[in-house]
Amino acid sequence: MSDYYLYIIPEDPYYVPSEEQVAQTISLLRETCPEIEIEATTTQEVRFIDPGSNLHTIYCPECRRLLDIAWWQEVMRAKYATGFVDMEVETPCGHRTRLDRLEYAWPAGFARFSITLFNPDCEISGQDIHRISKLLGVDVKTIYAHY
Ligand SMILES: [Zn+2]
Repeated sequence: MSDYYLYIIPEDPYYVPSEEQVAQTISLLRETCPEIEIEATTTQEVRFIDPGSNLHTIYCPECRRLLDIAWWQEVMRAKYATGFVDMEVETPCGHRTRLDRLEYAWPAGFARFSITLFNPDCEISGQDIHRISKLLGVDVKTIYAHY
């Protein structure tokens, strides 16, 4: 049996909301998804939020070229070693961008703060996302992960 997670993370990887903002967001989600397990996580350093077995390809956001996974893994190792304090990268196709701006398919992200919904059977609408953004004080995005 495989697991399916929905992560909600800030667009800004370094952003951490206040405890009150988190509590309000969790109670909103509990109204929408009363049956499922929801967890908020904050870490000292930025984490890679990966889509699990859904991560297949990564593209340069500037020229849409397919990026070599071995190159990406090397960059990830180096950035991880320094806690992702900077995300600046130069792609093999010569474009300066950031790790969190690369186009991941399926979408992936980087975050210090995340909310995880475990095996959600509920629908998180665009309107919910808008309300969550307002509560957390930051634009958010969703990452679907399959393990
Ligand atoms: Zn490029």
